[in-house]
Amino acid sequence: MAVILITTLMLALVAVQGERNWNFDNTDAVRGPSHWKDSYPGCGGKRQSPVSIKTDESEQQSELEEFVLTNYDNTVPSLTLTNNGDRVKVLVNGGKPKLSGGGLGFAYEMSQFHFHWSTNNKRGSEHKIDDDEYAGELHIGHLKQGSNAADAYADPQGIAILAVLLKAGGSEDHPAYEKIFQYLDKIENASNEYEMPSFVLRDLLPSNLHKYYRYNGSRAEPPCEEAAIWTIFHEPVTLSDNQFERLRQLKNKDKFLLHNNRPVAPLYDRKIYISWRKHSKEGVADNCNGLKVSKSFIITVVIMAFLKQLT
Ligand SMILES: [Zn+2]
Repeated sequence: MAVILITTLMLALVAVQGERNWNFDNTDAVRGPSHWKDSYPGCGGKRQSPVSIKTDESEQQSELEEFVLTNYDNTVPSLTLTNNGDRVKVLVNGGKPKLSGGGLGFAYEMSQFHFHWSTNNKRGSEHKIDDDEYAGELHIGHLKQGSNAADAYADPQGIAILAVLLKAGGSEDHPAYEKIFQYLDKIENASNEYEMPSFVLRDLLPSNLHKYYRYNGSRAEPPCEEAAIWTIFHEPVTLSDNQFERLRQLKNKDKFLLHNNRPVAPLYDRKIYISWRKHSKEGVADNCNGLKVSKSFIITVVIMAFLKQLT
């Protein structure tokens, strides 16, 4: 009883102070990512996100066909840009874009999207691909059609997240991302909100939507519900150095938002699937460009040439 009372009082104190009992600070020995599981046991589960992806160890799955994107090419009625104290998040209101196909068993509706980044351009993405980290990552969250957030988070296939890896490169602002970033000064501090003009959300995605990684994971923040079907597009999108710099100017009170990416979780017995055919050992693959000549064919030609010389 006393424990429950003390816990309730502590949570109430945190609520009064307006602070959460978790953060992204790896050096914080109480609230940092490696301690989330102390307060939220789900964060220590065996289906957590993000993960480190190795293409070589991934398995091609033929069901991972094309996505069906509905309303992605229309402007949605309203977008609310927010600084939630650690990230930039955009709430999608009304006329939500829909996602189906792509090996998902259900249809999903977009609810929000948000960005992850870090102190410099060498890190910032949540997922690692073949040991590479990117400067940032965009997550577009979708709830199973007809579900509210609470129902979706309790359902092992309740949410579908599209992840776009963001590269930093040079001086050219990405025009679609600039449609959001031009208003970052309106949400400079935590809890700031701004009703931003709508735009075509398809423009945030890479051009190649056929090549992607797929695995079963979780929401990457407490309480880390294991409800997410993750898709990570193979092709990254490039933003300018200045666009990343402007993300780092955002604040929570007097602190800059300098990193908000959870470290990778163990894969345990999960498999990561890919939507495309890898190069086979014989050297023949349907998506290889250039010469499509198998090793066995070359060996046969060499042997035949050698035999011909002998005769
Ligand atoms: Zn995220």
